[in-house]
Amino acid sequence: MLRITIIGAGVIGLAVAEAISSQKNSEVFIIEKYSSFGQETSSRSSEVIHAGIYYPQGSNKGNLCVVGNEMIYHICKANNIPHRNSGKLIVSTNEETEKQIPELFQKAVDNNANSVRIVERDEISRIESNVKSNLAIFCPTSGTIDSHSYMQYLEAKAISYGCTFAYNSSVIGIDRKNSEYILTIQNPDGTSFDFETNIVINSAGLFSEKIAQMIGIDTDVNKYNLVYRKGIYFRVHRKLELYPKALIYPVPPDSGSVGIHTTPDLFGGMRLGLFIGPEQKEIEYSVDESMHRYFYEQAKAYLPFLEYMDIAPDNAGILPQLQKPDEPMRDFIIQNESDKGLDGFINLIGIESPGLTSAPAIGKKVAEMANSI
Ligand SMILES: Cc1cc2nc3c(=O)[nH]c(=O)nc-3n(C[C@H](O)[C@H](O)[C@H](O)COP(=O)(O)OP(=O)(O)OC[C@H]3O[C@@H](n4cnc5c(N)ncnc54)[C@H](O)[C@@H]3O)c2cc1C
Repeated sequence: MLRITIIGAGVIGLAVAEAISSQKNSEVFIIEKYSSFGQETSSRSSEVIHAGIYYPQGSNKGNLCVVGNEMIYHICKANNIPHRNSGKLIVSTNEETEKQIPELFQKAVDNNANSVRIVERDEISRIESNVKSNLAIFCPTSGTIDSHSYMQYLEAKAISYGCTFAYNSSVIGIDRKNSEYILTIQNPDGTSFDFETNIVINSAGLFSEKIAQMIGIDTDVNKYNLVYRKGIYFRVHRKLELYPKALIYPVPPDSGSVGIHTTPDLFGGMRLGLFIGPEQKEIEYSVDESMHRYFYEQAKAYLPFLEYMDIAPDNAGILPQLQKPDEPMRDFIIQNESDKGLDGFINLIGIESPGLTSAPAIGKKVAEMANSI
């Protein structure tokens, strides 16, 4: 029986674990440095189920997002995972952004984002009476998910299929012996042991570049370098009853960001996000309070009732991007490294947004890759 070891129990590692262990033709392990799942990027997202609008045609990001979107709704409904299919409006706020709506709409159609349509002022008011805009794109398949419950479901499902979870276990080295991989795993007390496996799946998120380096992949030559960019949120504290139930996004200000949008959670709370900052070297999650006016002005453009003191700094997450801030969007890397002489070493690198939405589709794709090794 093949032994398959997944590094990292974020939403991606969990979705891969669930998909692979359901096939019952292998022994599956998942190694995670924290004491439970989803302690890094997966617990810091907007929890939006994306429709797949913003991504280059034919990309993993576009394709896996559209497939993942359908899968996630199906999984949520079948397993009582809290979610809301609220739909999303991408609103123009002036003449310049109005002109960009047709091009953005075409991109959505090219990406097979389901049932998107252009809507004008009257329909916008019917969908969300408190939103101000003349022209928008309505995406009926967008929504919100309780990502913690989704991860809990994936963990429980994987365990029920026989997957073994090793928490409090850090991978600190990887070697190759014949056709097997030897992972060196460190315990919390500093002791370590070696663990043999046939297939390695690197879903270590912010540390996926480091894991690739451990097996000797030159991440500079292969362009696997991660660029950390912090995304920050402000929380809405007042007048929550006035806020739209649908997700409200502006027309993206540039190719690297989707703009300051509303992110209602499923429990009555509301955040505004996401401002994506410059490249940073460290993983740290402080929120720059001086962004208060920027958040206020951006959201005020489509939420006319918003007042300056309604919002306050909230939390942040770090996007593991492959492109530098001024470069065009790069795709998810999902690759069996056989061309590097490392058959059975599957790298998942640069799984930024829409990683949460794409997770079940990524799980399925990686399970198929592992099956064909
Ligand atoms: C601010 C923000 C907002 C986002 N919003 C959305 C959204 O609305 N919708 C959407 O679809 N996507 C969104 N995303 C993207 C989504 O959150 C990510 O794509 C997804 O969570 C990535 O999951 P992951 O499992 O790859 O990474 P992580 O969740 O980071 O998991 C990696 C795991 O690997 C473990 N690990 C690392 N190194 C080691 C090691 N050496 N040994 C053992 N374990 C290790 C870590 O502890 C961690 O648990 C957002 C991302 C950010 C940052």
